[in-house]
Amino acid sequence: MKVYYIAQLITAASISAAMCTGAIAAGAGAGPTASVKPDKHFHPKGKMPSEYTQKIFEEARASLPFSDRQDFEEEERGFIAAPKSKKIMADAGNVAWDMERYEFLADADKYNSIHPSMLRQSQLNMNFGLYKVVEGVYQVRGFDLANITFMQGKTGWVVFDPLTAAETSRAAKKLLDEHVGKQAVVAVIYSHSHADHWGGVRGIVDEADARSGKVEIIAPRDFMQYAISENVYAGNAMSRRLFYQYGVLLPASPYGHAGQGLAQNVAAGNLGLIPPTRIVEKDIEVFEVDGIKMEFQNTPGTEAPSEMNTWIPSIKGLWMAENVVGSVHNIYTLRGAQVRDSLRWSKYIDEALHRYGQQAEVMFASHHWPRWGNKRIQEVLRDQRDIYAHMNNEVLHHVNQGVTINEIHNVYDSPKSLDDGWTTGFYHGSRENNSRGVVNYYLGHWDANPATLIPLSPRDSAPLFVEMMGGAKKIIAKGQQLYDQGKYLEASEILNKLVFAEPQNQVGKDLLADVYEQIGYQQENPGLRNAFLAGAFELRSGIPGGASPKTSGPDMVRAMSTGLFLDFLGIRMDSSKAEGMAFTINLVTPDNGEKYLIELSNETLTNIEGYQDDDADLTITINRTDLEQTMMGVQKLTDQIKDGTAKVKGDQQVLAQLASMMVDFELGFEILPGTKGPGKAEDLNDFEVSAPVIAE
Ligand SMILES: [Zn+2]
Repeated sequence: MKVYYIAQLITAASISAAMCTGAIAAGAGAGPTASVKPDKHFHPKGKMPSEYTQKIFEEARASLPFSDRQDFEEEERGFIAAPKSKKIMADAGNVAWDMERYEFLADADKYNSIHPSMLRQSQLNMNFGLYKVVEGVYQVRGFDLANITFMQGKTGWVVFDPLTAAETSRAAKKLLDEHVGKQAVVAVIYSHSHADHWGGVRGIVDEADARSGKVEIIAPRDFMQYAISENVYAGNAMSRRLFYQYGVLLPASPYGHAGQGLAQNVAAGNLGLIPPTRIVEKDIEVFEVDGIKMEFQNTPGTEAPSEMNTWIPSIKGLWMAENVVGSVHNIYTLRGAQVRDSLRWSKYIDEALHRYGQQAEVMFASHHWPRWGNKRIQEVLRDQRDIYAHMNNEVLHHVNQGVTINEIHNVYDSPKSLDDGWTTGFYHGSRENNSRGVVNYYLGHWDANPATLIPLSPRDSAPLFVEMMGGAKKIIAKGQQLYDQGKYLEASEILNKLVFAEPQNQVGKDLLADVYEQIGYQQENPGLRNAFLAGAFELRSGIPGGASPKTSGPDMVRAMSTGLFLDFLGIRMDSSKAEGMAFTINLVTPDNGEKYLIELSNETLTNIEGYQDDDADLTITINRTDLEQTMMGVQKLTDQIKDGTAKVKGDQQVLAQLASMMVDFELGFEILPGTKGPGKAEDLNDFEVSAPVIAE
């Protein structure tokens, strides 16, 4: 069967990408459309779980408290209805969301290819439909990566977190209308800056109503700054790394993508952003939203740089945003993000516990299921507070005795009392990489060993290792022996050297893929599983060629500051082409009253807001709203100069010089050697990769 790869895997590219993962609206969404028979591996070279892998599963089954079903009871409580179809179509015609693809999870035990603890979490995440949380509060779960929550106000619905895509939030509202009664949305609360919590707002709110004040949109401090900026500068790299963390190329299958921990996946539809009309600026603010008294607790620098919890006294309800969910979250995010502050996170949970948790009777959040009853709420808040503090304290305890970033993941372990329950499972962040993240947060990447201070690049050191090990044949023989013994990490050490020394050695790559696959199966953490399985996929089949990030959608560009756009030009510029060049440009945008001075010197492009050069080589005057056409890539600035939209004074040649130095980043860059596309997609029978599209 013909397989076709993704034309537009990731669109709103760098920018859209602000998930809790926190990345992106990558279109990990629909991911590949599997037409696999679940009992068959989707890849011709794929292997079944080995006896060693199965043994790890057996040990997990014997040691974890699977008889404790409280999470399942909470997840099922209040169920009202689900739509007949488990698919939600995007306006563009693709499948935006599909829970059917994960139905194999119901009897995944018989495949024995998913860690039992991860499988349990993925089974919990099969909740799909409309749920009553308490009187007047409803959630639609399983329509996207996040939940959408509706609270009855005096005149209509107050919505917490309108999902990633307009299509999924619209479908959620329709389900609510059908079963609870049709009412307008009168307010929206964005709990934080990640896109799975605001991208779908246009599915339930008309922007004109927000502008006129008919619909209030409330967000935490610094929301707009971080909604866009968190993922711009390193956006292309983050998008590429999503292939690993989210397993974008893996079909939903017992041997492939089997859930994402927070939910099954991310919806692939229209991502938009309506700016907030009211910002919660103070640490704590109390005001009414459509007649409901709410107390907002800003929690900056936790799960997101801009985030807030909400206490609703009338229902004794505690909305914990994404600060407390049914998993431990990321301190370090595999797709790449600034490391988060585990201790600060713990302290904000502690504040919520003492400020609200003593009275709370229901606690609900933007992922997973609610918790009811004060005892249960306090238990979950305490456990979550403790795990974030423990990661911080225990890691630093070891670090202060000489344990380095390259060892901590083999040393750190979470408290047994927490491991014996289900309130702090590592289904988003992992023990291994959160502990390394804490070290990185305080000490950075260097382990203080001079040998790692200016190391050779892997491609330069590997040939020396291979030569000293006696060549490829010996390495493959030893690698196979280690594989046969179930010593996968050891096998990975030497085979990785071979693949870096001989990128075209397909026998070596296939064996390393087999090794990665077993390591992937063994993981409790979905991000780790996906990363190893994605590595195996690319070693076997190569990575798809031709995919490149598209320009950003209008909402995202509108929300982007001019300074951020100019910073990114500096990143896109190939500085080797700028040798000997120097110029200054004044940029004036009269409609928003801003001025920037842009300077090229020393092969470096800088910009500063609020200043101008009296002797600038060029002065450009253009309204910011018109400049957005250039920012989106819809129009060239030179054309806007020609048609008079932009006025210029001085030497226009500098613009041509600047344009000639810009590089468009490609999404399909190589991570593992010898995998650069076009992938050998024709090798793959029985499954197709469709084109998930997020946003425009
Ligand atoms: Zn989220």
